[in-house]
Amino acid sequence: MLTLVTGNVPVGIASDDIVSDGLMLIGDGARQADPLTGGGIANAMIAAQLAAEVAVDAVERSDTSRDSLKEYQRRWTKDRGRKMA
Ligand SMILES: Cc1cc2nc3c(=O)[nH]c(=O)nc-3n(C[C@H](O)[C@H](O)[C@H](O)COP(=O)(O)OP(=O)(O)OC[C@H]3O[C@@H](n4cnc5c(N)ncnc54)[C@H](O)[C@@H]3O)c2cc1C
Repeated sequence: MLTLVTGNVPVGIASDDIVSDGLMLIGDGARQADPLTGGGIANAMIAAQLAAEVAVDAVERSDTSRDSLKEYQRRWTKDRGRKMA
């Protein structure tokens, strides 16, 4: 579910559902800011790199389905998501 929140740093529990068909959420939109410090710039940049790598691969395979893009969520969880949780 998408909601509009402005003027804050989202420091709740990270979303475990950040991809859909043709869609990958990164940064604040995916609640990737560090819940202890509120720092979200570095995490957003790391997530962007992971998402870009997965996007290139998905486009080359002509498969931007949710299942295909789940690879981004897997990499994020393995990299930073687990630590933040
Ligand atoms: C007061 C404050 C202080 C902070 N201090 C720090 C800090 O010191 N260190 C740190 O690491 N993090 C800090 N953060 C958190 C950090 O700013 C965010 O986590 C980070 O910027 C998230 O990056 P993002 O790309 O996801 O979102 P954003 O940086 O918010 O980028 C989203 C962009 O999308 C644009 N946009 C929105 N809607 C649309 C639309 N419909 N069409 C086109 N464009 C649109 C917005 O204008 C914006 O430029 C702070 C946050 C706040 C609020």
